[in-house]
Order: sequence, then structure tokens, then C-alpha cells
Amino acid sequence: MISNRIGRLELSPTLRINASAKAMKADGIDVIDFSVGEPDFPTPHDIKEAGKKAIDDNFTGYTANDGIPELKQAIRNRLKEDHGLEYKMNEIIVSCGAKHSLYNAFVSILNRDEEVIIPAPYWVSYPQQVLMVKGKPRIIQTREENDFRLTPDELKANLNFNTKAIIINNPSNPTGSAYTRDQLQEISEIAVSEGLIIVADEIYEKVIYDNYKFHAIASLSDKIKAKTILINGVSKSYSMTGWRIGYAAAPREIVAAMSIVQSHTTSNATSISQKAAAEALSGHQSEINQMVSEFQARRNYMLNKLRRIPGVSCREPQGAFYLFPNTSAYYNTEYAGMKIRNSYGLAYYLLKEAAVAIVPGSAFGADDNIRLSYATSMDKIEEGTDRIIEAMAKLKESPKYKRVALQNVMTHPRGTVEANTEIPIVERDALVQEAEANLPYDRYFEWNANINGIIIQLRTNVPHLYDFWVENWYPAQLESDLEPHGVIYAVDGVPGRTPYGYYCPEMKTAILFNTSYYGQVRSWALAMAAQASERLLDVHGVRAACIDYGGKALALIAPKGLKRGSTFIRMLDDEKARFVTNDWVFVRYRGNEAVADAPERKFYFKTSIAKTFPRYARIFDRSKCENVVTTRADWTNMKELGDECPLDLGEPYCYWGSEDSRALVDPAWINGPGHYSKRSRIDAVVFLVHEPNNPAVEKLSAEDALEFITEGKYRLPEGPGMTPYKVQPFFNPYLLAGGIDQENLQRRNFHQLFRVARAFKANIAAIPAEALKSRIRELIG
Ligand code: PMP
Repeated sequence: MISNRIGRLELSPTLRINASAKAMKADGIDVIDFSVGEPDFPTPHDIKEAGKKAIDDNFTGYTANDGIPELKQAIRNRLKEDHGLEYKMNEIIVSCGAKHSLYNAFVSILNRDEEVIIPAPYWVSYPQQVLMVKGKPRIIQTREENDFRLTPDELKANLNFNTKAIIINNPSNPTGSAYTRDQLQEISEIAVSEGLIIVADEIYEKVIYDNYKFHAIASLSDKIKAKTILINGVSKSYSMTGWRIGYAAAPREIVAAMSIVQSHTTSNATSISQKAAAEALSGHQSEINQMVSEFQARRNYMLNKLRRIPGVSCREPQGAFYLFPNTSAYYNTEYAGMKIRNSYGLAYYLLKEAAVAIVPGSAFGADDNIRLSYATSMDKIEEGTDRIIEAMAKLKESPKYKRVALQNVMTHPRGTVEANTEIPIVERDALVQEAEANLPYDRYFEWNANINGIIIQLRTNVPHLYDFWVENWYPAQLESDLEPHGVIYAVDGVPGRTPYGYYCPEMKTAILFNTSYYGQVRSWALAMAAQASERLLDVHGVRAACIDYGGKALALIAPKGLKRGSTFIRMLDDEKARFVTNDWVFVRYRGNEAVADAPERKFYFKTSIAKTFPRYARIFDRSKCENVVTTRADWTNMKELGDECPLDLGEPYCYWGSEDSRALVDPAWINGPGHYSKRSRIDAVVFLVHEPNNPAVEKLSAEDALEFITEGKYRLPEGPGMTPYKVQPFFNPYLLAGGIDQENLQRRNFHQLFRVARAFKANIAAIPAEALKSRIRELIG
């Protein structure tokens, strides 16, 4: 649904800390907020009046898309007066905040894969914006002992023929460091001689201390100016963050390009705000000085206090309103069970223990540090820093943690690919030829699986698929004249092919191109085996989770999304319960019995169940896994903003960071070998449903059960009106094409099943999960 452009992006980590802080505030906890990125002063009176006047004058229509002349003129005057910079009207563009100006600039200058040099620690949005327009951020780690300033050598070492631009944020958010004139000159001259564009984010130019003299990069020389995109705005200097006005001054052709982009996205910045910004830039500037001297007093106070914390060091910033202390000495400590492994862990600890919100340095590409904003009152700073000192004093060294070597493979793609499951024989022959051509002898894996008497052969060049395949199934005879009942080709690296699957029902051949995801190989293998088994052996493949109680099994059947997995796991907690299968059985009807066999040797589990059932995490630790998330960037579980991800707290992986992660588990590991039974007899079939107004458990007649499963009528937990609707028969959504014969066979087999087993509906909408589990349990005597 979402493009892979977005998939690589991250939600701002500040938002996650903020979400937790907000929740605490809602619970009545007095959280002191050092995470804010805006001045805590009101917008000055004259500026607000100018905004009001714009409304009164009905200045509320569209404006020129690159900004009203009055504001552009005010910007020109300010740049001239402050920096001696001369820009023409068509070299200036006004946007909805400096952030927006930056984005327009990147859209305008970057081609795919061109690199932008970003010195770290960096402001969070730079790399994300570059990624959004398909450029490549090239992060250069600056050194704390250099006050986090990029050195000429570091710059030179990172240039290549793809380098297009460099971002210089002076003074810097998050470090507050600022460059001297000479340092700026040296860096800029290298950049210009290499033909780079300099993106100069100077939004904090006015917020500077201790006689630091700010120099706009463009003012250093004409040559530099000709390659510089100056970015600035009114947010920080005039306490106008919410007014959303920023601007860029740059060579005419760049501004023209940005103007085109803007004309198709926002048209213009808000008319009212533009009037107010014009007043801000042209009116008297004395309020800035008052604000800055207040900031300076707070900076001094906070800096002194932080420096007194043992093990913490902090540079003295020259600008902006942040401190960026190094807190890495605390990264192997703990208190009251909370372990701190990194800056996020420390941020989390300070929030919970001290009720102080700060931003972890990892957000800025500097995990050794944390960022504290002093854009808050002196009282709060006093109280907040006291709390930090107290909380940090409680931290005691904890044993170094061992990284568990997880057996994990990230597949590509992460899930099931689209498929055509009814290809004719001629097409199958051509595809097999293509598959074979891409399976060179020295990268070829082949193995016959015995799926309840049916032989399915895998032919692949993906070691991961081979590994899982061998682990998953019981073996069949491997070599000689054995003719498999079905063959699956899973071939990666096929040129010119997007990930896609094909199945030819006549020839029982499956071909999967350019996917290394095992889940699909497994479900196709089961579907192919079920088909052959029904036709040749009269054995019925049923997609059900089965639990045995003293020789009688309960089979749970449900469409996707109805909590079959977690209901099954809950039922396994019963002393008398024995694990048969979490997904599939092959059923043989013998007299009045439905004898069910589990075809798998190891079982394929969704690892996200570990969130609700933590003991499974320790089982997955020892199992082979795919797609378990090990980096924050792969975390796709965005269901809950503010959800704590273990990765952020220093854990090496997260079992529920994605819906696509799976583990192959030995059933005997779950409750011991005495609680595993490969064979049982199905006594009751339970369909999970979601029917808000119906009872918790209902008995179904054999006829109703047959209709229910073969017609595929069920209600989904979401969606307007909760109307039942027909989907593919839900007894197996993965069933490969089998035609009318196959459907008749299925119908006949289910008819047999309901002749010998009782059928029920269990309603997840009626009662809580634990209570429902007990009700289901009672169905087996
Ligand atoms: N650049 C930097 C370095 C910033 O810190 C910020 C604001 N946090 C911006 C740009 C964006 O400012 P604006 O409100 O003008 O979009």
C-alpha cells in the first residue's frame, strides 16, 4: 500500500518520546519538557498586530507563489543590512517554514542517487528529506573534541563523483556549535572547488552567545555565494514557529526551480503570516537581544549543572538553545530493573524515573549524547536538572550484556508476492527453462520433502529457502528415480523479473521468481501436497490449528485477523493440552474417526506473538527466524505511536516490530515432548468469528458447518456495518487453483469431517480472550 520511498523513512523519535510524555501528563505526572525545539516566548506584539491587520484588510487570498514583494524586499534588506549580501527579487523565495524551503531545495537540485554530505550530529530532517527525493545522505561523523565541526580533511575524504551538495547548519541544532569565519571559508572553498552546492541552514543565526560573530556563508565570497542556497526563517529569531514562514536566497535558476515545485504543492505561504514576517524582519530588532540574553543565562546555568554530573561532559555551545552532553558513560548501567544501553534507553529512563523529557542523541546520529533544550523557564530548568542529577545518581553499573546471535535472515521481499496460479503448460515449460537457466550448478540446492506421504521437491538458489525447507519437513528419499508429486522452483536474481509466482495445476509445478521469503514457499508446498493427497490418497488437507486432549483433538479454523494464533497459544497453557499443529493437518476418515496427522517437523510461528506471550521470545531465540527486525529502520509496526520498541531500549532485536517475522519452532520445545503429539483424532471443530451481537459459543449442525466453511461467509472485525460477505472459501485462502473437481473434493471431505466431529462457532467479540479460551476448552470432554 505504501511506497518503498516511505518504508525507509522513520517517524521522528522526538514524537515517540513526546507521545510517552503526553501519556504521563494525562496521568497527572508533572513532566518537565527539555525536548522542545522552539522559543518559549510569545511572538512580539508588533508582529502579531501586523498579522491581525492583514486579516482586517482582507489580505487573505492567494499571493504570488514565491512570496509577497513586501516580504521579499524585507528579506533583501535584512540580508543586505546584516551581511552585506545583495540578492535580486528573483533570487528569493518564501516558503512555509525553513523546513519547507529545505525540501523544495532538495527536490530542485537532486537527481536519483546523488549524494548530500551531512555532518553528524545533524538536524533530524536532513537525511530524511534527502531520502524522500531519492538522493543519498552521506553522513560524516564529526568529533566532539572538534566541537562537532566538520574539518576540511573529513570533507575531502568523503567526496566522490556522486557528491552533489553539502549541508552546513550554523549554528547547529542539536550541538549549538558554530563555525569561525576561517573555518567556514576553508570548508566552503573546498566545496565550491569540487562543484558542490552548499545548503546553508542559518536559522539560528540570531541566537548566539559570548560575542560569537556570525558570518553568513554566502557573504564569504562571490564565488561561494554563486553556489550557496541560504536557508533562513522567522521561527527561531522572532518566536514565530507556528506562523510557518521560511525563505531561501540562491542563484536565480535554483529559485526558479523551487518556485515551480512550490507552485504545484502549496502555492504560497500563508498570506497573513507573510505580512507578519515582513514586520518581523523590517521592524525594530531589540526583542531578539532580550530573548538571547535570557537564553544565555539559562545556558550558563544548565551547562554548569550538567557538568557536575560525574562522567558527563558537555561542550559550551556558541548558539541555538540546546545542550548536547555526552552521556555515554551511563550506557551500561541499570536501576530498578531498567537497563540503559544507549541514548534512547537513557531518555526513556529519565522520562520514567525523573519525569523529564529529553531527546536521545541517536535521533541526530550521535548516540553518545542527549539533547536538552533550554527553551523553557528558569524554574523548570532548575527543577528538571535537579531531577536528572538525582535519577542519574541512582544508576549503577550493570553486567555487560551479551548479544544473542539470532539465527535470522531478512528476506526480499518481506512477504508473499503476487501470483498467477493457473498458467497453461506451454507457459510453464518456458518458465521452467528460464528458472533452470538461472540455477547454475554451483549455486543449486535441491531437496525432497515428505509432506504426509506426498513428495514435493524444492529447487532453489537461495540458501535461506533451502535451509528452512530442510528444517521444516520430514525428509523423503533424495536421489534416484523418485518422481516428486510436485516441484517448486524458487529462483532469485533472475534478470528483468519483478518478484512474482506462477503455478501450473496440470504439471504441479510452481515457479517463484526473485523472492527469498519462505512463508510463500511453505504455503504453496502445503497447498500442492493437499491437492495431491486428496486426489491420490483420499486424505484431506485442513488448515487448522489442533490441540489434543487425551487423544481427542480440537481444531481451530479461522480466516486471517481473527486471532487464531493467540487463541491457540492460550489453549496450550492447559496442563493436559498437547501440541499437534499450529496451522495444518492431513485428515484420514476411518469409520467414525477423523485421524489427523501433522505434516510438519518444525512449525512456522509468527514471532509477533512474543509481545503478548513473552516466554515464546526465549523459544524463538533458539529457533531459525526470518524477518525479525534488528534495526530501527526496519521497524514497520506503526500501529501504535509511542509503542516502546525494544530496539530503542538497547535490545538487539524486536520480535513484534514487523508482521512478517517468523520462526521455525520445534514443537517439543513449547511444553516438553510429553505435550506434543503428531497424531490425534478430531473431536470438535471450532470456527472463530467476530459477531458483536451473538453469544460466545454456538453449536452448528453438520449442514450449517459445511455451508459456513465452503461458502466462506464470515464477518471481519473491522469495516462499515460488519456485513457478512463472501470471500474465497476460507477453509484455505492459499489453496492453489484446482478447479471445480478440487472444490467438490473439498466439499465431500468437509462433509465427512462434520459427520464425525462436532462443530461450533466461538465469538471473539463476545467475551475476553481468556474467558473464551475456557469456553472452547470445555467443548472437549
Ligand atoms: N533547520 C533547523 C536546524 C531547525 O532546528 C529547524 C527547526 N527545528 C528548522 C530548520 C525548521 O524551521 P522552520 O520552523 O522554519 O521550518
